[in-house]
Amino acid sequence: MTLIDDLGAHNFDDAADLIGQLADVAAGRVRHIYRGACPDDLEGDKLRDADCPACRALIAADQAMGVTDAKIL
Ligand SMILES: [Zn+2]
Repeated sequence: MTLIDDLGAHNFDDAADLIGQLADVAAGRVRHIYRGACPDDLEGDKLRDADCPACRALIAADQAMGVTDAKIL
């Protein structure tokens, strides 16, 4: 199984785009807005803020990986 298979992306472009978005978050080029619904040490790692660009990358990753226990606020 390849990384792309693991991501559950439909094609290479989708997987490359998702990896690029996650790399932007990891490198700090795209940051969480921290208005209460972003994942952090207090709230845990399962919250997502639909208005936050960093959270939207996580939401896309969740969907690609079949994660169902994240809570989108
Ligand atoms: Zn966020």
